[in-house]
Amino acid sequence: MSTDSRAAKAARIRELLDTEGEAVATNTRGFNQGRYDSVARLEDYEGLKDEARAIKEDAIERLPELLDELTETIEENGGTVYVAEDAADANEYIADVCADAEADRVVKSKSMTSEEIEVNDHLHSRDVDVVETDLGEWVLQLADEAPSHIVAPAIHKSRQGIAELFEERFDPDEPLETAEELTMFAREKLGERIEGADVGMTGANFLTADTGTMALVTSEGNARKSVTVPDTHVAVAGVEKIVPSVEDLRPFVELIGRSGTGQDITSYVSLFTPPIDSPTVDFDDPDTPITDGEIDREFHLVLIDNGRLAMREDPDLKETLYCIRCSACSNTCANFQSVGGHAFGGETYSGGIATGWEAGIEGLDTAAEFNDLCTGCSRCVEACPVKIDIPWINTVVRNRINEGGNGGRFDFLVNGLSPDAEDDASPTLQKRVFGNFETLAKLGSATAPLSNWMAHSRPVGWLLERTLGVDHRREFPAFRRQTLVKWARDRDGTAPTDPERRVVLYPDVYTNYMLVERGKAAVRALEALGVAVEVPSVPGSGRPPLSQGMIDTARAKAEGVAEALDPYLEDGDDIVVIEPSDLAMFTGDYERLLPAEDYEPLAANSYELIEYVYGLLENGASPETLSVADSSETVAYHSHCQQRTMSLEAHTVAVLTECGYDVTTSDVECCGMAGSFGYKSQYYDLSMDVGENLAGQLREADADHVLASGTSCTDQIGDLLASEPRHPIELLDPAR
Ligand code: SF4
Repeated sequence: MSTDSRAAKAARIRELLDTEGEAVATNTRGFNQGRYDSVARLEDYEGLKDEARAIKEDAIERLPELLDELTETIEENGGTVYVAEDAADANEYIADVCADAEADRVVKSKSMTSEEIEVNDHLHSRDVDVVETDLGEWVLQLADEAPSHIVAPAIHKSRQGIAELFEERFDPDEPLETAEELTMFAREKLGERIEGADVGMTGANFLTADTGTMALVTSEGNARKSVTVPDTHVAVAGVEKIVPSVEDLRPFVELIGRSGTGQDITSYVSLFTPPIDSPTVDFDDPDTPITDGEIDREFHLVLIDNGRLAMREDPDLKETLYCIRCSACSNTCANFQSVGGHAFGGETYSGGIATGWEAGIEGLDTAAEFNDLCTGCSRCVEACPVKIDIPWINTVVRNRINEGGNGGRFDFLVNGLSPDAEDDASPTLQKRVFGNFETLAKLGSATAPLSNWMAHSRPVGWLLERTLGVDHRREFPAFRRQTLVKWARDRDGTAPTDPERRVVLYPDVYTNYMLVERGKAAVRALEALGVAVEVPSVPGSGRPPLSQGMIDTARAKAEGVAEALDPYLEDGDDIVVIEPSDLAMFTGDYERLLPAEDYEPLAANSYELIEYVYGLLENGASPETLSVADSSETVAYHSHCQQRTMSLEAHTVAVLTECGYDVTTSDVECCGMAGSFGYKSQYYDLSMDVGENLAGQLREADADHVLASGTSCTDQIGDLLASEPRHPIELLDPAR
């Protein structure tokens, strides 16, 4: 990516932060909190997710068979099924149906699949008027704007903006101000349009192969009206929407509203088995049917392939087809919360899972436009009701984008410095440098303090921004000449003589070369708790290359880690990890990078540092051996995004509390730095915007100590508060 493209991307993001950011943030954070509250009321949330996942796995596995079954069922019911190869094929069919119905007007309820095929444009070109009847979609149709969210398409618009739009378009007799006035006005206008429509078009959240039933999960009644008022009903759905039976709908109905908008159940859950024979109602007198004689509606189900069947054959993109489009991955994503789907999205889909959809449907070029906005923080994994590993899909697509890439004109500058394994790929120079951060860190440490002086000098800052896109407003953390491994090797023996347990403290790249003090504190604290600690030289975990989509390099690192730690695991040692993102590698990502015999023992015996301290205290070690609080010392703590996904935040809070500290935790999903993301000039403003939410909470806590577990969070909070937080272990350090 050139300097100009980076500047253009930064400018676009800034514009969206200014114009849409506030509305997007308020709404998505509200939905996200609603999700937390709603799923907490479920007795067995994880069980329901497992159930939903199993149904989707089975349905996609048996898709050809279910497709045949559904076709047969719908035809028996009196409807027609058309499987469209692509958007053009689907649009031709729909246009023919409209022509047969002599349709002048189609009313349409919300459907992302119909957005995907751009059916409105096609029908307009055939002189058919298409009216969106979902309030948000109608607002966007009037404003000629694209959706910014897959469930709440006009999430970026304020109430005042909508009032001005209605004013301009309709010049109403009375001014429209409140949400209720606006909604009632829209309801009236849309009612008139539905009443005179010839064809009703809907999507389908789920289709059951056994009965031909379609489930529509909506917050407004317009979808029902679009189905029951016109004589012809066209439903447009991706082939992946088929599930085997009506019974299978239960977990999805339980999960979809809770996951998306935080509602225990959405306002309307409609199960239709079309063609529908319910009578048409009079809008002014809903209790009196106005249909004369026998009801004879036509029903056409248009099932869209458009790349989906190829995705089913792709081992990495296949999981995308499990998606039920609930939007939880958008709402929980810190970057999405700030900038919304107009930046974090492609032709149709937005949010974390959009990379999978857009790569499968539109191709890699479209996915490449926004794929980098996924930082791999993993908060979406926990939120997803069908447990899709969304960050992995993003990583694979990034890797494929790298493979088709062109490193750029400055690539030669780093060839010798980037011993990566990307033989078939050509990541951008920026990605290669950040992906090879371990090499830079080694060099920086070996040449410190000269390296630090250089990194902080203006000309070097300018050069780094110009060539690598490292934002000049960021400062690299200082490299330390004496690494943690060297310190541990050279220090006088203070190990417990009769240790309860033996651990390897994993010297991650950041702790070993830069944040050495937290490593020293960890060694002292563990030893004080009766544990023998070894700090051997072990390669970096591969997290930096993985975050840049450099999978081969990450795999090579993983193999190096497994080889170095294997003798310790054989001896029964535990592996203790300070950096949460590295622990996430050991216990999660390595499953995809290593053979099971290497992955499993490492994953089973690796622990986050404070989780390990918690276990020691639970098993009888005394907190008094650590540094405990003076009377009422307060702590503001931000755990790491991946640490939260691994459910390891509570351990730190518990240990600090046991040691006498009064702890307040932040509830932001991610600090916004996310490894190298916040260093990239095109994303600096977004990163800081995300971080400001966290900074506000930390300032408000007004605590004696600000603590953070991850390196990225430490850097980000340091920049935001102009004072670097410490790792919790530094507060517990017996030498403090
Ligand atoms: S990937 Fe999961 S969380 Fe995201 S929209 Fe799909 S089902 Fe919902």
